[in-house]
Amino acid sequence: MARSAYVSNILKGHVVYYCKDCEKIVETKPVGRKFVYRCAVCGTKNVAFGTEKTIRAFYRVKEEEEIRNPKSE
Ligand SMILES: [Zn+2]
Repeated sequence: MARSAYVSNILKGHVVYYCKDCEKIVETKPVGRKFVYRCAVCGTKNVAFGTEKTIRAFYRVKEEEEIRNPKSE
């Protein structure tokens, strides 16, 4: 029971949009009635979408924690 609720939650929510030009997760605007989205940053339609987990894994999007550049030395 719990598992089906979990899957349903994934399917319904937390979809992110990844712009292949910006090479990051971006805000988008839907284009027409198709599943086409325009990047709100650069304006191209070169946008993929999926769950955050899928997108991060596929495009190797870095977590913000990883992006920060610690000056350890
Ligand atoms: Zn973009």
